[in-house]
Amino acid sequence: MTSMLNAPPKLLNPGPVTLTDTVRASLSQPDLCHREPEFTTVIEAVRAGLVAVDPAVAGCVPLVLAGSGTAAVEAMVQTFVPRQDSAEGFAVVVDNGVYGARMAAMLEASGKRARVVTSAWIDGIDLDAVAAVLPGATALLAVHHETTTGRLNDVDGLARLAAAHGVPLLLDAVSSFGAEALPRVPGLVAAYASTANKCLHGITGACFVLADEALFERPSGATSVYFDLHRYRSPSSSSASVGATPFTPAVHSLYALRTALDEYATAGGRSARHERYRRHSLQIRETFAALGFRPLLPLSSTSVCLQTFWLPDGVSYAEIHDRLKDRGFVIYAGQGPLAKRTVRIAVMGDLRDDDIDRLTTALQELA
Ligand SMILES: *Cc1c(COP(=O)(O)O)cnc(C)c1O
Repeated sequence: MTSMLNAPPKLLNPGPVTLTDTVRASLSQPDLCHREPEFTTVIEAVRAGLVAVDPAVAGCVPLVLAGSGTAAVEAMVQTFVPRQDSAEGFAVVVDNGVYGARMAAMLEASGKRARVVTSAWIDGIDLDAVAAVLPGATALLAVHHETTTGRLNDVDGLARLAAAHGVPLLLDAVSSFGAEALPRVPGLVAAYASTANKCLHGITGACFVLADEALFERPSGATSVYFDLHRYRSPSSSSASVGATPFTPAVHSLYALRTALDEYATAGGRSARHERYRRHSLQIRETFAALGFRPLLPLSSTSVCLQTFWLPDGVSYAEIHDRLKDRGFVIYAGQGPLAKRTVRIAVMGDLRDDDIDRLTTALQELA
């Protein structure tokens, strides 16, 4: 037994991710009251770091919540899809995976009408079908990186349609923000939801929405108190501090996110993270291919963040999961109909080249 085997396993699931030592150490900073100026310094650094991640969000309002990625998506959907009693109409949802379907479920749960444009999980978005239903819609909801399969959806195409029809684009960018470029289309009004603990390498507990100012000009559509982003934009005037958040924030998660955003910027920002993920994902695809695992999607349709592979006949997910865990890696199962037939490998988190080399060796030893 080498000491490496006693180290905690590296996480190859799409969040929560393996932390750097620096981010982990950032958790043991002083306890803070969120109504004190010391907290303002932390939240302001996080907000500034978030809007610097991608040029598409440079002018956006950063809204930080306590919750998992789903909380950010739900807040975005709640707030920026008008209520049926304040506007006629419907929202359009693009669904080619678990997370697109989840946004449709959010609309249904809040009593908002939706037209859902569905594609099979292994297919791309049908832009013509979206274009056909978009006129008159109050919002277009889509997933940037559909983590169900690893597909990078054509958000540039969706953004062009949204801009052409004057419909806001609400994007679940939970598993792509920080590693894949957001669409930049003139005239587009958009909001993006994501979390601290996927491509940004923070810890669970903090999530955020980056929204164009123009979205706040319509009345809030929220049918909920906690998920109404108007409250996060204008915290109660009774709070003494400008940095205040309306509800108790995930203070330690924000310590970690501030540190993770510093590391992200120092390491070269989005292009550097994209390139590192791309290299690691390519190496993993080559290793799997040599072992007879076919990729679910062609390289040109996948994100750099996560790859899905068909399990060869006679190979069970549980078996390779357990054997890789013994060798220091936690992998991820497929979902729904793909659960028993595929394996997913994400490269988010503090994974170094030598970790991927060790993974390659561990996979070769399975053969
Ligand atoms: C992980 C993920 C979510 C949900 O995040 P939770 O943190 O599990 O709530 C939403 N959308 C996408 C695309 C994701 O990958």
